[in-house]
Amino acid sequence: MGKFGCTCGNIISDVIAPNDVTGFVLSDKSSEIFCESISDVIGDFFNHFNADTIEEWRAKHFNEMYPTSEPLGEMIHDVLFSRLMDVTLGMFECDECGRLWVQESPTVNKYKAYSPDDPLGERAKILGLNQDAGSMPDSE
Ligand SMILES: [Zn+2]
Repeated sequence: MGKFGCTCGNIISDVIAPNDVTGFVLSDKSSEIFCESISDVIGDFFNHFNADTIEEWRAKHFNEMYPTSEPLGEMIHDVLFSRLMDVTLGMFECDECGRLWVQESPTVNKYKAYSPDDPLGERAKILGLNQDAGSMPDSE
């Protein structure tokens, strides 16, 4: 996206990646579709891997411009990320007023604003690193 003008006058910039001002909204229905695609994509990948037909799998998902030197894990990542983008809405968080800007649909470059009710001093930042530290394999 680059830079996005909030109605408060602040410019939200996502030039730095990853950042604390952009994220995704994944509804329950959309997360169901995405989670099913994880097992579909990986299962299909292993079927092709075991049959030594990875090139067929590659052709299903990529055109001839996709680099042939890409590691297998990166290829799976790229397919899954694309599936994620098919069902997710982009989101910006204004780091000045706290407004959340949510994409109207996955294919439309328009955003709707939602303002927090909490006063400025009591407001918690929404976007950032949201993880259960105990669930990460290298967190010990
Ligand atoms: Zn703002």
